[in-house]
Amino acid sequence: MGEFDLIRRYFLPLASRQQGSSLVMGPGDDCAIQRLPAGQDLVFSIDTLVEGVHFPHRYHPDYLGWRSLAVAASDLAAMGAQPECFTLALTLPKADEDWLEGFARGLAEAAQAFGLALAGGDTTAGPLTLTLQVHGTVSRGNAICRNGARPGDLVAVSGTLGDAGAALAYLSETEPSADAAAVLERYHRPQPRLQLGVAAAPFASAGIDISDGLLADLGHILEASEVGARLESGSLPLSPALVRLTGERAPELALRAGDDYELCLTFPPERWESAPEALRRQLTVIGTIEAAPGLYLDGTDCGPSGPDAGFDHFRRRQ
Ligand SMILES: [Mg+2]
Repeated sequence: MGEFDLIRRYFLPLASRQQGSSLVMGPGDDCAIQRLPAGQDLVFSIDTLVEGVHFPHRYHPDYLGWRSLAVAASDLAAMGAQPECFTLALTLPKADEDWLEGFARGLAEAAQAFGLALAGGDTTAGPLTLTLQVHGTVSRGNAICRNGARPGDLVAVSGTLGDAGAALAYLSETEPSADAAAVLERYHRPQPRLQLGVAAAPFASAGIDISDGLLADLGHILEASEVGARLESGSLPLSPALVRLTGERAPELALRAGDDYELCLTFPPERWESAPEALRRQLTVIGTIEAAPGLYLDGTDCGPSGPDAGFDHFRRRQ
């Protein structure tokens, strides 16, 4: 199959799927054109995923298609941006039609679910590598950045944490239990919190998506905002499946494991109070921002060596 046949067959359907996107010229010309509505900022981000580095060899192509766009879209959610369109540069060892069909199916499902139209891309031969750039829009000056947290702000997280981390133990199971299947779904098909990000943008002071684990990612907010935080481990949102599968290890996974793609947001208390109940219901308050640098967990100083050291304190107490 030639490059143009491959693109026409597997990827062009993703370009015409989205109505109402700001994309006015999609694939087929020298460049794509995105028209920004008046008063909007363009928010964009690029990710490269290499087989054997960012995902396992022979990883299921359907999951790879979904996951690669979900992970990229999660950065838009973290900024409170409305998803618009994306580009894909695909490097393939060979044009394996079964693989392409699965990958394009997972990617198309994700593009549809997230409201992202394919704007263009490139295909080349070589070791399996995916590069995705996602574009979103946010009303001018309203993007949620990492540097806006202030002392007294509440720290809140969406959904439940630790599920994707727990899934790693079950990746090779052929007949997983219902609980294992539930956490595997979190790992294979992460759900970027796009609507939540957009809804939170007028109220949140800072935010990040949790890709590397709560302590590590909250640490980026604290560093950028030059503040500290105090967290309560008893407030961590844990799924029933996670608790049944991992018992007392559940809080450890919620604090440290990555790949959940939930949001960690900070809110000035008065803005939290004025936020719609529908928004607050999707979030769990787990702590507060403090003026003094450092991350305290249940009153224990995590110390100068960073979140992992703090976590060791926590683990010894379990
Ligand atoms: Mg991120």
